[in-house]
Amino acid sequence: MQYQDLVKVYEALESTASRLEMTQILASLFRSTDCSHIKKIVYMTQGGIVPDFFPEKLGLADKLYLRTLVAATGGNEASIRDLWAREGDPGTVTQKVFENKKQTTLFSQPLTLDRVYDALLKIARAEGSGSQELKMRLLADILHDAKPNEAKYIARIVTGRMRLGVASQTVIDSLAQAFATKADKPEVERAFNITSDLGLVGETLCKKGLEGLREMRVRVGNPIRAMLAERLPSPEEILERMGGRAMFEYKYDGLRVQAHISKDAVRLYSRRLEDLTNQFPDVAKALREAFEGESAIFEGECVPVDIDTGEMLPFQEVSHRRGRKHELTEAIEGYPVRVQLFDCLYLDGEDLTLRPLPDRRSALTRSVSITDRVRFSEARVLDDPAKVQGFFQEALQAGCEGVMAKSLNDDSVYRAGSRGYLWIKYKKEYRSEMNDTVDLVAVGAFHGRGKRGGVYGALLMATYNSEEDRFETVCKLGSGFDDATLAALPEKLDPYRLPKAHGTVESKMEADVWFTPTVVLEVLGAEISISPIHTCGHGKIREASGLAIRFPRFTGAFRDDKKPRDATTTQELVDMYKKQLKRIEG
Ligand code: ATP
Repeated sequence: MQYQDLVKVYEALESTASRLEMTQILASLFRSTDCSHIKKIVYMTQGGIVPDFFPEKLGLADKLYLRTLVAATGGNEASIRDLWAREGDPGTVTQKVFENKKQTTLFSQPLTLDRVYDALLKIARAEGSGSQELKMRLLADILHDAKPNEAKYIARIVTGRMRLGVASQTVIDSLAQAFATKADKPEVERAFNITSDLGLVGETLCKKGLEGLREMRVRVGNPIRAMLAERLPSPEEILERMGGRAMFEYKYDGLRVQAHISKDAVRLYSRRLEDLTNQFPDVAKALREAFEGESAIFEGECVPVDIDTGEMLPFQEVSHRRGRKHELTEAIEGYPVRVQLFDCLYLDGEDLTLRPLPDRRSALTRSVSITDRVRFSEARVLDDPAKVQGFFQEALQAGCEGVMAKSLNDDSVYRAGSRGYLWIKYKKEYRSEMNDTVDLVAVGAFHGRGKRGGVYGALLMATYNSEEDRFETVCKLGSGFDDATLAALPEKLDPYRLPKAHGTVESKMEADVWFTPTVVLEVLGAEISISPIHTCGHGKIREASGLAIRFPRFTGAFRDDKKPRDATTTQELVDMYKKQLKRIEG
């Protein structure tokens, strides 16, 4: 196929804003094209050369492109720069430069699609020393034989600015029209959703028709487009929608990952199908160790954790791991994560996306053995709104943002790439953000594990209720201590040690060690939330619930200047909760 034929189609696409027309233009191109070219056309029309989740990326730096253009056309650099500043689009600039160029190329060969594609692929793959020169040479080679309108699109694609406005949905419509009927669009869509590769879908449809498409299965290495949830505001509505009963899971506040495990490799993809493997080699390794089969595709949420207490940390911690190429080792150690698996889409040769959730969950739990770094999402089958509310509170307390309700019915398949009511999210309605520190009293402690063996893993902290003259628990404090402080804590608190809770302490939790309320620490939390397990302000905001400080962190300041009864009072915390309370949409 001549590249010029494709360029003519691009020009036609650019001259219309109508999606319908675009669809027809593309459909007729697909119909008239040899099947071996469909893939390349699909990728290139969308501005790429491979599916999005592949590592090869175009996007040559403007400077480098400009240098190549000057060298390839013998044009004047200053005036090309000028033109670029005015036009702002390398495509238009290139076309104009080419139109003004004196015909110097005697032995010009018409460009074929394959030649342009191969050059672009090599440009994307070139890396390391000498790669800039190689890229320039490859680009100059095709520009040498390009007509002005061809050069325009080469310029655009190579600099990552194709922008023809052809969305995936338009390509899907065109493929259905070209090789089947409009009514078959859902099948084309499904194939795309499970492979995330429209080029492959187009090629399969062209070569094998609808039958071939129906035979397409999820495959390890092709990320599956994520299933998403609808939302409802109450447990009653959720249960009604689910037919009275559903599986409820913690909704973790982390980073969604889809893990593809084969004999040779583990690859991790984000919700946007980016390859995350290099940022989370520890997760890949942990999954490899925890998985007991041959090959699988799992989904889960990566959450930052405090390695010593096992508690989850605020989501922002995980962001330290993103986009890092250097200092990765430090990032891995400094920001440890755990993956909470919640779905299994493929196991040992079997596509499970069309199987109901109970089957998928059981495939997950039977093929993975949990470790410190790999766990299953906390899940419970419930049919009673009050129990759902309780589970929801428990999830918030654990540092989650709410719960996910998931249908258990026969039709509870994995709907790749779509948002629907098979999954319903129920997030915290109210949240009260803290922007001030509080001074809390240590009333108990929990023994540390792992690296914190021999020292305290967390302290049980309380506010002072001045009306009742008692201390009410409000959080477990395990973050913000440096090693020296941590090591010194037992000694500091030892003089106040008690065999059981002090008479003034109200606690529903069983600490490992109790103290006479004495030592006051300054603490900063992320927010105040309703809690079924802490006693601070019990019953004041909600019946049978207290308040908790979420994600508490020691500021480093022991308030030795304060007596325990000078600590932040329960009433202050209730006021803070009310004052900062704001309704959060969705
Ligand atoms: P949100 O911003 O609420 O996370 P979203 O648009 O990213 O919304 P939704 O489908 O609405 O995605 O909510 C599901 C998201 O919640 C998933 O993308 C995933 O990242 C996260 N999540 C956390 N825990 C679970 C779980 N147990 N099951 C499914 N998804 C979970």
